Amino acid sequence: MRILITGGAGFIGSHLAEAYLEKGDEVYIIDDLSTGSLSNINALRENKRFRDRFFIKTDTIFNHDVMVELTGICDVVFHLAAAVGVRYILNNPLESIRTNIRGTEKVLELCAKFKKKVLITSSSEVYGKHTHAPLIETDNIIYGPSSNSRWSYAASKLMDEFMALAYFRTKGLRVIIARLFNTIGPRQTGAYGMVVPRFVAQALKNEPLTVYGDGTQTRTFTYVKDVVRAMTGLMESDVAVGEVFNVGGTEEITMLDLAKKIIRETGSDSDIELVSYDEAFEKNFEDMQRRVPGIKKIKRAIGFQPETDLDAILRRVIAYMKINHKIANPKQT
Ligand code: UDP
Repeated sequence: MRILITGGAGFIGSHLAEAYLEKGDEVYIIDDLSTGSLSNINALRENKRFRDRFFIKTDTIFNHDVMVELTGICDVVFHLAAAVGVRYILNNPLESIRTNIRGTEKVLELCAKFKKKVLITSSSEVYGKHTHAPLIETDNIIYGPSSNSRWSYAASKLMDEFMALAYFRTKGLRVIIARLFNTIGPRQTGAYGMVVPRFVAQALKNEPLTVYGDGTQTRTFTYVKDVVRAMTGLMESDVAVGEVFNVGGTEEITMLDLAKKIIRETGSDSDIELVSYDEAFEKNFEDMQRRVPGIKKIKRAIGFQPETDLDAILRRVIAYMKINHKIANPKQT
């Protein structure tokens, strides 16, 4: 099969590309390297087994001719190219909205034209300000006002979902929507605010771990390879077409406990520093207090459930960051 991955040089995209290359498929990626990085895919490019099956286009998905060519030659499309991370969205509000809405529309339009099955990655952000758990796909959605640009990411991803479902209903496009919850693993960078690589880097450098707010907010974390297994499973499934699925883990943890765990796992001497949201982001910033997915729907559809627990994921992230970021183990310094 020929697989097109938009945003294929990103953290999740690069793991998805690897999975298909390992299966013997041909993989095409398009990435403008805005938040993705060639370093994520260097090992894949250098791997002799993949050399004649891995094609990289450094370009934006707004390049119509390139997207026509790629969508035309590939069998299925994974759309991951998007503005990601709350910090990135706050710093680049206009560009983020445009990328997420116009970019997804372009992909849907071409997939409809060439009749290609497509998986659109959405985000748990779409649920907005809920405090109950678990969040299920049919839940209502609560956002703050448009004066608070933080919610533009959630709203843009929600609009992507509406658009994808409208293409399914009106044009018969075979589309699947995956609402990804917090995904972690090797190659993820803390540069756009993501908590786990930030905490691990801070711990490995013996710097204070910056816990935002009072640290009682919770998340569940899923290993990137589990997420990739969910995405490939959804793509292969007929019952998933025209449906929205949560993809995430079920082990809920507060950010304070996460910080303590990472300090323990790294053997760090770091302290924990509580940083107010105003200071970390901007005045009146609103965080999501809880974010736990209900995963019955995806389990029923494709039998998916996460296999890697948080401790195991953290050990892999820590080992990766020690080598790749050349951060010494604090116990050895
Ligand atoms: N967070 C934190 N310290 C950091 C970075 C993030 O306490 O240095 C918190 C953040 O406020 C949120 C959680 O960790 O409550 C997860 O943040 P992330 O940006 O990884 O993902 P989000 O769930 O917000 O999309």
